[in-house]
Amino acid sequence: MTTSVRTRFAPSPTGPLHIGGVRTALYAYLFARKHGGEFLLRIEDTDRKRFVEGAEDYIVESLKWCGIQPDKPSARQSDDLAIYRREAERLVTEGNAYLAFDTPGELEAVRLEATAAGETFTYDHSTRMKLSNSLTLSADEVKNKVRSGDPCVVRLKVPAGQEIRFTDLVRQEVSVLSDRVDDKVLLKSDGMPTYHLAHVIDDHLSGITHVIRGEEWLPSAPAHVLLYRFLGWEDQMPEFAHLPLILKPDGKGKLSKRDGDRMGFPVFPIRWKDPQTSEKFEGFREAGYYPESFINMLALLGWNPGTDQEVFTMEELIGAFSVNHIHKAPARFDPDKARWFNAQWLQRRPDHDLAERLGATLEKKYGMDSFTPEFILGCVRLLKPRVQFEYEMPVTGSYLFEHPVHFDDKVLDKKWKAGFQPFFESLVGAFNKTETFNASSLEEVFRATAESHELKPGKVLQLLRVLVTGESGGVDLFPMLELFGKEKTLKRLANGLAYVSAKFVDHG
Ligand code: GLU
Repeated sequence: MTTSVRTRFAPSPTGPLHIGGVRTALYAYLFARKHGGEFLLRIEDTDRKRFVEGAEDYIVESLKWCGIQPDKPSARQSDDLAIYRREAERLVTEGNAYLAFDTPGELEAVRLEATAAGETFTYDHSTRMKLSNSLTLSADEVKNKVRSGDPCVVRLKVPAGQEIRFTDLVRQEVSVLSDRVDDKVLLKSDGMPTYHLAHVIDDHLSGITHVIRGEEWLPSAPAHVLLYRFLGWEDQMPEFAHLPLILKPDGKGKLSKRDGDRMGFPVFPIRWKDPQTSEKFEGFREAGYYPESFINMLALLGWNPGTDQEVFTMEELIGAFSVNHIHKAPARFDPDKARWFNAQWLQRRPDHDLAERLGATLEKKYGMDSFTPEFILGCVRLLKPRVQFEYEMPVTGSYLFEHPVHFDDKVLDKKWKAGFQPFFESLVGAFNKTETFNASSLEEVFRATAESHELKPGKVLQLLRVLVTGESGGVDLFPMLELFGKEKTLKRLANGLAYVSAKFVDHG
């Protein structure tokens, strides 16, 4: 029987999803899709202390925005707690786990003792016999403690001196001596399972074939392998793939939730409002990113396709994805590259689509019918190659929509010469006479007029732009004049010339 691939994303609802979490979801999704399998979402909500209101909805909405669609309704661990308790009891009965009654005070004391001796305390096979647990207490003592309701946890009984081996799809063979694995808590004193116990049971019961998760779980993986063994499921154990960390842009440490704020880029997919502090964090969505570019950027943060291709649709990512090309080394988040991806995706957007949204923005700002649909479409074509985000179009291209009132005096002061006024007056006349008011004839007319005034066209080209738009730079000049049309171009030129003659009144 061949088992079809089934992966999952298993976030804890302890706050907003950071881009590292979204990347984990994305890789698990791509891997499942690539192999014609299923991708599931499981909310790991057994840590009540860290539970954050609204986080689950946030996770679901973020994945939806990214286009990462789970194949089944999401599962919630808190929906079936009995199962974890039952399996924990089985582990205890079979001698693979034990009850530990240590009070926080006792644990603190052994920790301090270890620190004083220059060591780090770990609750393991070498220390557990000095502590208050069912391995050191008599059966009657344990019974009495349980009967009188003394708080206790269930711990994994890690055997001494064994080699624990497993294959990680990113790191290949991993081998750890069990002496270095601590007796992890499986069931807490409130009866809730820890991540270690709950996820192993859930992954097994839901038939997960590949556990794709962050590298921070690699050190715990040997304990998970032991759990599969003790629960009798080792032959069906999923394969592991631990994903590399995502670092800050300067490479100094892990990208944290606070970095975005500090460095002026988002680290969350969509807006997050902290329910406790009401603090708001903008996401990539609010910063103007397309979900396509966000996903594209994330996919390449820790994986490469093995080719030079950088721009991928989700379908293309599914086709190209392979765990063999997941990097072992940490990935560095690069905000410039993220913007570059958005620009790539903006270039791929149909012009009429962009024009529709630009039109809506212009309408809000300048009123209904201030510009014709053809004019707006023309602006989109000119602006598109010069921006990275849609919201930049009406801003960087404002000179297309507003008659200039300010002119770039720096350029005028530097470049304007006394003899230019007659040239521009001739140009107005020549433009006026131009029948086919298109970019190439306008450029020709401009050159011919400059030559007839014995001027190098390069001397007056930027000045023409300043007169018409007020700005020293911008979209392609002659196509822009074509878009304005004769009437608007001549009006703008006259307006610019009036400004210049007032400014240089003493030039003679
Ligand atoms: N709840 C865990 C987390 O949020 C899941 C890790 C896993 O994918 O197994 O990190």
